Amino acid sequence: GLAGIPTAGGPQTGKEFSSDQEVRWCPGCGDYAVLKAVQGFLPDLGLRRENITFVSGIGCSSRFPYYLDTYGLHSIHGRAPAIATGLATARPDQSVWVVTGDGDALSIGGNHLIHAMRRNVNLTILLFNNRIYGLTKGQYSPTSETGKVTKSTPLGSIDTPFNPISLALGAEATFVARTIDSDRKHLTAVLAEAAAHRGTSLVEIYQNCPIFNDGAFDAIKDRDTKDHAVIPLEHGRPVRFGPDGEHGLVRDHATGTIGVVEVADVDETTLLTHDAHAEDPST
Ligand code: SF4
Ligand code: MG
Repeated sequence: GLAGIPTAGGPQTGKEFSSDQEVRWCPGCGDYAVLKAVQGFLPDLGLRRENITFVSGIGCSSRFPYYLDTYGLHSIHGRAPAIATGLATARPDQSVWVVTGDGDALSIGGNHLIHAMRRNVNLTILLFNNRIYGLTKGQYSPTSETGKVTKSTPLGSIDTPFNPISLALGAEATFVARTIDSDRKHLTAVLAEAAAHRGTSLVEIYQNCPIFNDGAFDAIKDRDTKDHAVIPLEHGRPVRFGPDGEHGLVRDHATGTIGVVEVADVDETTLLTHDAHAEDPST
């Protein structure tokens, strides 16, 4: 949420939010597309760059703050939500963003993530999910699928992956969304909704890692935007639907169930997916 943050006089273009640092991700990394989308969106906040801070943890995506001409902290593995909590609490004049990955957020920092969401700190958390540890060269992560063969799991992972959306809902997050690196329009729309929300916004971004997990989201990428339009909750009620106006996710606090509402053709692509939860989101 941006209430209380002084506006006016901020950069007008994405280029003005680019830093002088050389971007050092692998060629073709999905992180480039997310960076462009964020830089393109930031002028819409209408804030001065000194009123915006990006806090990251450790991992490929956590290089993000170097590439933005805002304040930034490349912090401690898994601890970005904790550091961002301190900043957001002490400095309500800051728009505070967290950039993290599936390993950083869900393994090393799982505890910090859930408590930031539980406390509903005024943060926008961008969780880059490439379902792999990229920086350390391709070990399976908390979102890797069961059976994933990597150097650290040569016989295939025996773990059941986290679904970050389910996890966020379990922590009573008040804004939960999923989007994808390859769909700039949808990504930008989700960024706008997430930034406007007062409280913690958790945005999972499916992000391709062409080096260690190429094509993980190809099946999703080719679907219509509406199939992965995911959207927000506010204290158990859907506050808005997806950019297409058709999708929403609701938690009924009376019964504790979570469900998709107002969806014309719900299939396995909707919301609580990549596991069996789609059929029965309450389990
Ligand atoms: Fe991107 Fe993967 Fe390279 Fe990391 S290892 S920079 S996630 S392509
Ligand atoms: Mg990762």
